[in-house]
Amino acid sequence: MRRTRFCLAVCGLLGWASAAVAWGPSTHVAVGQVLLDRVGSKSPGPLSFLRSPSLRDIFLRSSIAPDMTLSILAAKKSDKAYDKLLHSQSMAVRMVTDALDNDDPRQLAFALGWTAHIEADRLMSGPGRVVYKDLIGFSGPTKRRVAAMLPEMNKLCMDAVVIRDMEIPMQKPFVDRPLLIRAIGRQTGKHTRTVSWPDEAIAGFLSSFDWSCSTLHGLATAVANNEKAFSDLAAELSEESDDEPFTGFDELVDEVLAHLVSLVPRSHGVDSTGETVSPTPSKSRSDTVASRTARKAGQIASRGLSFLWDGNSVTAKMRQVAIEQSLRVLNSFGGEDSRARRVLTTFVADLINDTRTWSQVKIHVRRIAEAQ
Ligand SMILES: [Zn+2]
Repeated sequence: MRRTRFCLAVCGLLGWASAAVAWGPSTHVAVGQVLLDRVGSKSPGPLSFLRSPSLRDIFLRSSIAPDMTLSILAAKKSDKAYDKLLHSQSMAVRMVTDALDNDDPRQLAFALGWTAHIEADRLMSGPGRVVYKDLIGFSGPTKRRVAAMLPEMNKLCMDAVVIRDMEIPMQKPFVDRPLLIRAIGRQTGKHTRTVSWPDEAIAGFLSSFDWSCSTLHGLATAVANNEKAFSDLAAELSEESDDEPFTGFDELVDEVLAHLVSLVPRSHGVDSTGETVSPTPSKSRSDTVASRTARKAGQIASRGLSFLWDGNSVTAKMRQVAIEQSLRVLNSFGGEDSRARRVLTTFVADLINDTRTWSQVKIHVRRIAEAQ
């Protein structure tokens, strides 16, 4: 039973590996949090309505939602067509315009949080960004063979850094369904159904994504609690400046903020009347089913995680055995793709297991990557 839970978590890691998530969920929240702090500290501007706590909450939770097709159970982004659609820049901009036309602060907070995600993903994929940094020091040919894993390893570490340094809490994703569904309808056209019916699809994605977010947050928290290796690793991610959690973070926040400001006219007329509005989803029948499913998944996930990260020596020993056996199984698979996955799993297992120093982790991961 316990091993099943562990394997579920490993599947989650592999799922993250194959998913085209540009940043981990906690990093998206960290970008949003710093961005909103900057809005709050400046003189009134077009985004100052976001100082309202309830609108700030909507913004942060919306800023992870475009990755909603990521499912740990499916071990990947479960629907590529939807994932592409949800990351459409033009659709994000249209939602901002709709929210402005409707003069609705909750809708605007949602659309801007969503747009912040899309912009952060776009900026991150530029050449030379820290997410492509080779933390391990692979040789040239090995690096080419495991290249796809570098961003995955770095993303988990960045999530761990922001969780540790900025105390980023687990966030439950939020979607303004009417606004999003209308935008999807327009984007896909009235007669060409390229994706399944959004009303049902989005409820399903979100309940699964809740669980994925909480599991990823649990894994990154475990990495952040690693006392042997993590400090040295984190230092390598913020080489250029000790003031930001990782290299390029401040610049990223500035660029996302500038983009959002450019979308909202100074005199948009939306004020902070969202203060009294709760972001809790409406009580339609499908919402109730979806939220029950999400709650159940969250309970299972948190039980599994408490086994994995529990500090008592018996469970720590069992965790060690489970990790080693899982690695042995993974190591028995052949092919370049499985080698890259072994590299990722070894890296993460070393970090959550807290048994090696950072230099020992690097040597271990290099050995797995270079094994014949
Ligand atoms: Zn994304």
